[in-house]
Amino acid sequence: MRDLVDILGVKFVRLSRGEILSQVEGSIDSNGKMFVVTANPEIVMHAKDHPDYMRTVSNADMVIADGIGVIIGSKILNTPLPERVAGFDLLTELLKRGNEKNWRVFFLGAKDEVLQEAVGNVKKDYPNLVIAGSHHGYFKDDDTKVADLVREAQADMVFVALGFPRQEKWIEAYMPSFDKGLFMGVGGSFDVLAGHVQRAPEIWQKLNLEWLYRLLKQPSRWKRMLTLPMFILEVVKEKNRRKR
Ligand code: UDP
Repeated sequence: MRDLVDILGVKFVRLSRGEILSQVEGSIDSNGKMFVVTANPEIVMHAKDHPDYMRTVSNADMVIADGIGVIIGSKILNTPLPERVAGFDLLTELLKRGNEKNWRVFFLGAKDEVLQEAVGNVKKDYPNLVIAGSHHGYFKDDDTKVADLVREAQADMVFVALGFPRQEKWIEAYMPSFDKGLFMGVGGSFDVLAGHVQRAPEIWQKLNLEWLYRLLKQPSRWKRMLTLPMFILEVVKEKNRRKR
């Protein structure tokens, strides 16, 4: 049984970055199928308010704490998670492993020109990875042709960048029809791989201020940022309920 930490109904694995990586790698090496959700406070709050999305998230094989807010929440509840594992970091670690092991990878999502640039950069940076296929993210969810493409590609890793909740819903809907592979929603990561969006400099990341950097760079995100204090408030309420 996995050691899980429940935060507002979402069950996170209590594993370090290294442990997560080696479990994912083990699954890929044995041609297994695995659904990973990288959940930040926005995803947790969305799941809390949408039972169908909560069900999708609970179908994942692994839910990972993406965002310092989740780590703070776990501490408030006295069930601390070891560390934040940013979805983008996991993605790049897996590309690195894949480059060493000649894994096949499929990129699904983002605008076509962003996707092409992202794939171009991946080819340059990870020359031994096999690009098994790619498709932009502007299609209808009931368009089964996209799932057919993914199935035929027989990829070891399928990164789905459609934004939440759509990416997780898409994975849940089509995963049973795939034979193998790691399936992970990666949000806006292709925009970063393409060089269109910069991640915060390392020092900001170390100080857990990546959210502030993103807010300064993309002030239009401020409304989304309000989720963080609301999330913390809900966690505090949950702690008080548990005390009773
Ligand atoms: N996207 C997509 N299809 C859509 C809507 C969005 O492929 O119908 C892509 C969009 O181009 C972007 C990503 O999904 O690359 C969403 O990024 P965002 O930062 O909004 O996602 P989050 O990280 O918040 O889930």
